[in-house]
Amino acid sequence: MLLNLKSIMELAEEKNIAIGTFNGPNFESIKAVINAAEELDQPVVLTHAQLHEDWGLCRIDEIGPIMLFMAKKASVPVCVHLDHGTDLDYVKKGLDIGFTSVMYDGSELSLEQNVENTKKVVEMAARTGASVEAEVGSMGARDMGKGDGGEGSIYTDPDVAKWFVEQTGVDALACAFGSVHGLYMKEPKLDFDLIRRIKAKIDVPIVMHGGSGVSDEDYRNVIKAGVRKINYYTYMGKAGANAVSEMKDKTYFHDMAHTAELAMKENVKRIIKVFSNL
Ligand SMILES: [Zn+2]
Repeated sequence: MLLNLKSIMELAEEKNIAIGTFNGPNFESIKAVINAAEELDQPVVLTHAQLHEDWGLCRIDEIGPIMLFMAKKASVPVCVHLDHGTDLDYVKKGLDIGFTSVMYDGSELSLEQNVENTKKVVEMAARTGASVEAEVGSMGARDMGKGDGGEGSIYTDPDVAKWFVEQTGVDALACAFGSVHGLYMKEPKLDFDLIRRIKAKIDVPIVMHGGSGVSDEDYRNVIKAGVRKINYYTYMGKAGANAVSEMKDKTYFHDMAHTAELAMKENVKRIIKVFSNL
């Protein structure tokens, strides 16, 4: 069933778990995510990132309706979310297609400009009942293939986070506390105390981006500290690729796609179990 992010976050808060958030840049990854969630009977967030379109992987007007169709017929709650929307027209496109949540990423702008644009997104989303996630601080380069190892990250200030949420009325806040997008160049050092200090100041769920490459113990600790949504994709994508590279018979693409789908599903199931304390 299709839900907005706010409703999915309420489920997470009730159970003190984090909801896994996975990219669906093609049909195989969409099926992998939804089937994994259904087999474990857990809610999930399926995302399209504006970057997928820039890379030529898929267009939101083509993949979006497929994501929504699959979410509606799923037996578990599924939120269809736009990840890292960096321009307002693109965010509007997602809302028009029916996305039930959008992330507006103004983290590269001045704080004032980020607030101003996020407010506009909150207004637009209210018309369709969609939820809004925004970002304060920065998790470094958004491009998972070219993760900057955290060089560009700026940790979130709890007071700024509080002010930002009050100003904008967002439903969830992506915060930077040591996680980075893509592959980690060195072992991640997560600031659990910072998460607790942010949580004490804001009354909306905290989102963690850059979830691949973090130890299971660290995941459990960020969830204990208050994280309720974790964006995870890099390792899922790698699991699909590894399974294909190990195939002996690569005659047909459909067999490769199917092998990748099953491997991604297992990878997603493993991580949902960690996020849900199963
Ligand atoms: Zn992200």
